[in-house]
Amino acid sequence: MPEIETPVLIVGGSLVGMSAALLLAHHAIRPLVVEHHRGTAIHPRAAMITQRTMEVFRTVGIEQVVMQKSDEQFVQDGAIMALESLTGKELAFFIANLNEGVRDISPSLRLFITQSLLEPLLKSRAEELGAELRFATEMVSFAQDADGVTAELRHRDTGEVTRVRSKYMIAADGAHSPIREKLGIRMLGHGVFSKSVTIYFKGDVAPLMRNRNLSVMYVVNPTLSGFFRIEKPFTSGFLAVHWLGDVKNPDTDVSTGLAEERALALLRSGLGDENVPVKIENIMNWDATADTAEHFQDGRIFLAGDAAHVMPPSGGFGGNTGVQDAHNIAWKLALVLKGLAGPDLLATYEPERRPACEFTVEQAYSRYVTRSAPYLRSDDMQPIENDLPIECGYCYNSAAIVPDSDGPLPARMDPRESKARPGSRAPHLEIEKNGARISTLDLFGRNFALLVGPEGKPWLESGRAAAQQTKVALDVWQIGGREGHALRDPSAQFASAYGISPSGAVLVRPDGFVAWRAKTSSGASAEAITAALASILCLARVKSA
Ligand SMILES: Cc1cc2nc3c(=O)[nH]c(=O)nc-3n(C[C@H](O)[C@H](O)[C@H](O)COP(=O)(O)OP(=O)(O)OC[C@H]3O[C@@H](n4cnc5c(N)ncnc54)[C@H](O)[C@@H]3O)c2cc1C
Repeated sequence: MPEIETPVLIVGGSLVGMSAALLLAHHAIRPLVVEHHRGTAIHPRAAMITQRTMEVFRTVGIEQVVMQKSDEQFVQDGAIMALESLTGKELAFFIANLNEGVRDISPSLRLFITQSLLEPLLKSRAEELGAELRFATEMVSFAQDADGVTAELRHRDTGEVTRVRSKYMIAADGAHSPIREKLGIRMLGHGVFSKSVTIYFKGDVAPLMRNRNLSVMYVVNPTLSGFFRIEKPFTSGFLAVHWLGDVKNPDTDVSTGLAEERALALLRSGLGDENVPVKIENIMNWDATADTAEHFQDGRIFLAGDAAHVMPPSGGFGGNTGVQDAHNIAWKLALVLKGLAGPDLLATYEPERRPACEFTVEQAYSRYVTRSAPYLRSDDMQPIENDLPIECGYCYNSAAIVPDSDGPLPARMDPRESKARPGSRAPHLEIEKNGARISTLDLFGRNFALLVGPEGKPWLESGRAAAQQTKVALDVWQIGGREGHALRDPSAQFASAYGISPSGAVLVRPDGFVAWRAKTSSGASAEAITAALASILCLARVKSA
């Protein structure tokens, strides 16, 4: 039997597994991805991409191409609304314009791009950076020991079995995760509340759109409850159906025995037109659930994406949350594999991601109940919170964060209020580098970054000395002030946006989360910075250069 080695085996090469591969490769770790299917997604599936996910894509150099491809499929800044049918009465706007009121918090914008267009972009960048991808390949068994994971892969066509030895494994194997099952990790939450279907169709429904810029159309009428997504030029799309009939006595099993003729009738009901020529391309069955895995880590194995949390599509959070999982674990695995961080850094994945994911699952559930299934309303349902804290305001409390005098953070904050408190996403501020406008976010992504205020000379010098002393890659930037090396801060807002005095400093992790902060120059020394790095990296002291 052929035997191979890889630092990280990623099982599942869909949206989340491919993102994990790309992010690891971005950190110079070359993982092996195995995917049961013969290629990337053939169905549109997820499409709503949050600003935070676009920020991640910006870091790895694919933001522009994602935006271009999105333009091929969707009119930007569309609305999300409820109607009786495409031709029927308009009931309510959930979002009138996708990016209204959020443009100031990020250099990146929300957009729609289907998985069938997005995954090839992730794949080609991951391969370009050195990830190895094997399609039509199934991971059939695995066992972990103190030093690594041994798995067997089987090629679907040739039947050839390969043994692979890896240091770590990421289970991005979807909602029914066989890996999670084998590890005996339970899913906790609401369980299955609808046996839903997605009806993919082709047909010119442009006249029914009446030039309205609608990205998602929730449909609620006496026949069904569900939602449409239709791509430019409005000749293909899907209707997802959650339940049938009367809201007082809903039939939530839509998928069992659903014949094409009945699916066509449901589609026509959603369209509100009996005559427009439409053809059903495919029907996909899926269970609507809202559950979070009890654990995200078992030894050397990490659950990510739908393997770790499953939520209804309402809100468009599911895939995005999985990309954030991959973003969180990738830099940690890279530093541990390079011998620059202690293995305990990996144990911060679960306490950082699980609470954020569980909250997102509950918010998706509350949106599902409110928008589509009022009969599920209960007293213990979370009240709906704004999208922005869910997308960009989740905060981390773990050993990889050094709290400052403001203390540990709440689980989430409005990103406009977080002001670079340790554990929160570092804020976006427009600055200038070599005459070009950039975002502070463009300073993060690969290395640790120390940002010092316009009067932060003591931290600047300490940061430069610390960068010389340690093998951990540390970029040091002064923002604002008159020094020639400083990045320009045209709005002179850096210190207030980052919650420090002009002489303070902020240490940002490779994933763009603030890890440590000094509000003033008091105590400035290289040792203070290397001590903070050691604490974040779960080491007694950082590796010397
Ligand atoms: C109708 C609908 C609309 C949605 N819209 C949105 C949206 O707008 N925005 C959003 O963020 N989310 C959305 N979602 C959710 C989103 O689709 C999922 O959260 C996302 O696809 C999960 O990705 P994943 O990679 O974790 O899992 P999956 O996409 O399920 O991928 C898992 C992969 O693992 C492979 N696999 C499993 N076991 C093995 C094995 N042993 N060996 C090899 N390969 C294996 C499978 O073949 C599969 O390709 C939507 C979901 C639905 C149903």
